Amino acid sequence: MATRNELLSARQSLRVAILAAEEWQESYKASPTTFRQLIELEAALETAVAEYLHELSSRAPGYVDWSRLPEPIKADAGPVLNNDDPVWKQEEILLTAAVIEIITQLVATGAIAGESLYGVPLGYTTLEFATLDEAIMRAARLHTADLVSRVTETTRKQIRESVAKSIALGEDAHAATIRLMDVIDNPIRAELISQTEPVNAYQTGLKHYAKTTGAVEKKWDGLPGACSLCAPLIGKTIPIDDLFKLSNGKEVDRPACHPRDRCGLIYIY
Ligand SMILES: [Zn+2]
Repeated sequence: MATRNELLSARQSLRVAILAAEEWQESYKASPTTFRQLIELEAALETAVAEYLHELSSRAPGYVDWSRLPEPIKADAGPVLNNDDPVWKQEEILLTAAVIEIITQLVATGAIAGESLYGVPLGYTTLEFATLDEAIMRAARLHTADLVSRVTETTRKQIRESVAKSIALGEDAHAATIRLMDVIDNPIRAELISQTEPVNAYQTGLKHYAKTTGAVEKKWDGLPGACSLCAPLIGKTIPIDDLFKLSNGKEVDRPACHPRDRCGLIYIY
């Protein structure tokens, strides 16, 4: 029988093929090398998050005070360990460890793509070399911290909801534990989490490159019809640090604007 690692690696190769077949704005594909890196890193991020959630599912029942069941659960209180309990800090550390390298490489890939798109060399000869750039490391830390705190907050919410549902259904602690583990060990959630972050991190790296090499404006580059939220922005050119206004009123510096957003930016020097 195949081991879990073999299955994960087969799944990851399949994801690379699926991602490559999705509609990406042309600027992502201009350099086949960085496009390949981008989709491989997106698949790797998804695997890392799925593995984290899988392992978290066996820890999560320990974060519930089962002796307090079946007290009614309010929105922010209940038998789930509090926000300031040290276990959540520990979960954040574990998730950070699982993804920070991949996110650093995504930011670096965006910067390297800039070199091949715009031709001004910054000396990022290899991915390893680019990941040592202080600005890239700093940007990657910020992206990672943001991702990690969002994921952990959702995890706590999911635990609360799962326990509340068990109480509503009159389940005993055993059934409630199984329900909770199923809710947490969710590969679809890993896929959702991993859908916007690669484009975000890559675009951050590309912007770092563009600013460093003297770009002054940016033009939204999207696939007509691929995303109705961004479609009105296609071709719009604004100063490099201004924000694009989406049709829903939200303002963004760059893609991604929504899950699976594959829009790009063209920098103008
Ligand atoms: Zn878009």
